[in-house]
Amino acid sequence: MTDYVVPAFPVTTVPVEGGGAFPVRRVFCVGRNYADHALEMGSDPTREPPFFFSKPADAVTTAAEIPFDPISKKFEFEGELVVAIGKGGSNIPSSQALDHVYGYSVGCDLTRRDMQGEAKKTGRPWDMSKGFDNSAPIAPLQPAAKIGHPAEGTLTLSVNGTVKQKGDLSQMIWPVQDVVAYLSTLVALAPGDLIYTGTPSGVGPLVRGDKVEIACDGVTKFGFTLV
Ligand code: MN
Repeated sequence: MTDYVVPAFPVTTVPVEGGGAFPVRRVFCVGRNYADHALEMGSDPTREPPFFFSKPADAVTTAAEIPFDPISKKFEFEGELVVAIGKGGSNIPSSQALDHVYGYSVGCDLTRRDMQGEAKKTGRPWDMSKGFDNSAPIAPLQPAAKIGHPAEGTLTLSVNGTVKQKGDLSQMIWPVQDVVAYLSTLVALAPGDLIYTGTPSGVGPLVRGDKVEIACDGVTKFGFTLV
């Protein structure tokens, strides 16, 4: 038995619909994967290679109540389809990429937009604007064995019952199989990896007390409140 000199940390897990738990190894996020969101962020929506950033595994949370961020003056939501990797690999061909997907969920890529804007301007990293505590809420996973591999379906995010984001999975510039294939050229993917696949347009700020609900047709839905 390893003689840890500080307490070993617990594995972050996401419950799976129907039973079991998915251990979270790493969290990768795709920047700019819907043309209309790329445009609202002032970027060119052409099909350049996708870019990625990461959140720590323990940023993932399934809590119904999430602490409101006290740091950001512009704390924003991004509703996203999340892919859960079940089988690892490097240089996975697109045509085989879906075989590496265990299942799907929906999640929120919570963002300190003001700090991200500063980071973009100054060429600094996004870690503290994207990868802070509780920045990756997620719903229980749906196994692909049960729901298949959704290539289309409406993705919506509502705040206090008002729809703020509405897109369709078919609008992704890089669909799931291409995201998995491309990411696997940059790092060796492993079971337990989650990929937040990007957000449609309509991102906006949140205040304490807001109830956020995210739903994707054919996948799942969930909600959380900022406290
Ligand atoms: Mn995002």
